Amino acid sequence: MTALITGSARGIGAAIALRLAKDGFDIAFNDISEKMFENNDILDKVRALGVQAEVFLADVSKYDQCENMVKAVKERFGTIDVLVNNAGITRDNLMAKMDEAMYDLVIAVNQKSVFNMMKLVCGVMSRQKHGHIINLASVTGLYGNAGQVNYAASKAAIIGMTKTVAKEYGKRGITCNAVAPGFIHTPMTDALTDEQKQKMLDLIAMKRYGEPEEIAGVVSFLASEDSSYVTGQVIEISGGLAM
Ligand code: NAP
Repeated sequence: MTALITGSARGIGAAIALRLAKDGFDIAFNDISEKMFENNDILDKVRALGVQAEVFLADVSKYDQCENMVKAVKERFGTIDVLVNNAGITRDNLMAKMDEAMYDLVIAVNQKSVFNMMKLVCGVMSRQKHGHIINLASVTGLYGNAGQVNYAASKAAIIGMTKTVAKEYGKRGITCNAVAPGFIHTPMTDALTDEQKQKMLDLIAMKRYGEPEEIAGVVSFLASEDSSYVTGQVIEISGGLAM
């Protein structure tokens, strides 16, 4: 059984890779650049668990690069049983100060990539007659967040795409779900100001940030047969940020 995880050199993607390896999956890592794996022992950690692991470099916002990657993963591992669309970026600013390039880039990397990967991998999974797709949305896609109109658009779109693919591919044995993390400790959120971090903390019922492993645990459930009748759902993982 093979899991392909985009943007998995670090952060939440790396935690998901480690968790799915513990669950027994061979891991197809993806990231945009080799550099991301250089000062990082994630590949060794995964291989130490006795599963196969390879890196497939691709910019997931580019359809042709996704096509080559999916073909290479299929050739190397034979099947793609789980796809986790995790790669994502932020380019935050208030809308009045956000230029068109910042908007377009976030949409391309966060949203178009999910179309690219789901379209290609659903072909493989349809022939297998099974598969689980898990998309990384965000609480920002559910509730909005000042300074993130581009990111909110991309993550809200992912929720609509998740439900649509669940409807189109349910009869082919493919489940498609999303997780919507809140504020999780990663390089992405380390970049926020102390004021932004405190504001978030004030809203969280559990009064702490989440850890990447707490996202990985829910993804593990959605990648397992324990969730075989769960599809088209969005699971919020935010310590009770909003209820
Ligand atoms: P992260 O630490 O920045 O990791 C994302 C990874 O994706 C990075 O290694 C990044 O490489 C890679 N990537 C970026 N653009 C790519 C592309 N075009 N093709 C392939 N890989 C690419 O982010 P994270 O915090 O773990 O977030 C993971 C996912 O969870 C994202 O979709 C994010 O939106 C979502 N999420 C995170 C939080 C949070 O609190 N952290 C909350 C809600 C949702 P580079 O560094 O080279 O760009």
